[in-house]
Amino acid sequence: MYDDIPTLTLPSGRDIPALGIGTWNMGESNAEEAQEVASIRKAVELGMTVVDTAEMYADGRSEEIVGKAIADLRDEVFLVSKVYPFNASATGTIEACERSLKRLGVDHLDLYLLHWRGSHPLEETVAAFEKLKQSGKIRDWGVSNFDTDDMEELFEVENGRNCAVNQVLYNLSRRGVEYDLLPWCQEKGVPLMAYSPIEQGRILNNHELIRIAKAYQATPAQVALAFLLERDGVLAIPKSAKPERVEENRGATDLDISDEDWASLDAAFPPPTRKTSLAML
Ligand code: NDP
Repeated sequence: MYDDIPTLTLPSGRDIPALGIGTWNMGESNAEEAQEVASIRKAVELGMTVVDTAEMYADGRSEEIVGKAIADLRDEVFLVSKVYPFNASATGTIEACERSLKRLGVDHLDLYLLHWRGSHPLEETVAAFEKLKQSGKIRDWGVSNFDTDDMEELFEVENGRNCAVNQVLYNLSRRGVEYDLLPWCQEKGVPLMAYSPIEQGRILNNHELIRIAKAYQATPAQVALAFLLERDGVLAIPKSAKPERVEENRGATDLDISDEDWASLDAAFPPPTRKTSLAML
């Protein structure tokens, strides 16, 4: 048994768990499909019910894999997909969403994100998102890879304040958002969805992370995720196509790390001391 996953409340009032699963790179190879489906199902079974995909991932194949995995679990899942910026026009957004729904085999998304800023005016994309909400095809909409100035601009657009989340790169080795974007989102009540929460595995060899993990009989990935779960208004979507790693990641909720060890992690992965522009992968 695990400790409960903390929940966050979206501006629309819906509650979502602070831990889910990502699916970038899923759907690239038929040989991996069974494992990918099993991993998504494992995540949902363990309460990590936020499932994040995008029309971009494997050219739509990731959405198809998610569709297979959740076919009999739809009501338990908080389903997230994203529109390519070049599709995010007034009509293009709606058509892209309809294609995503078809690949996923569902009648609505819980959350639809603009993947990153492109050349279509935010007014058009937001108006299309609001239309999708009215027609029941999405429950909420949000953005991704938006820095503080982008968020401020979004909030000036009609209905821009309905933005439900901002999905950005955030992990121990990418703490720039703590300088201004995270406090801004916390103040406005817009949850920050941390992507690449274990830096795609690259931080897991850090000596200090390994030392602290060992002290709690935990793994470096669990400590890296606990670091995000510790923060108000942050949720994380680690990707794994291995059910046993999904279970490992779920265990991140069970760590109770001391202030002294958090300070050691701050020394190994220093928080920002000045504004840097938002990093993207
Ligand atoms: P993550 O930080 O989640 O790392 C995923 C990698 O780490 C995979 O190679 C996985 O391998 C491995 N891994 C997972 N768990 C463990 C573990 N416990 N121990 C060791 N290795 C582990 O990176 P992602 O870039 O995938 O980010 C997560 C999700 O965020 C994406 O899948 C996607 O949904 C979203 N995203 C959104 C972006 C955006 O622009 N909006 C950009 C990037 C990501 P394996 O599968 O073999 O276990």
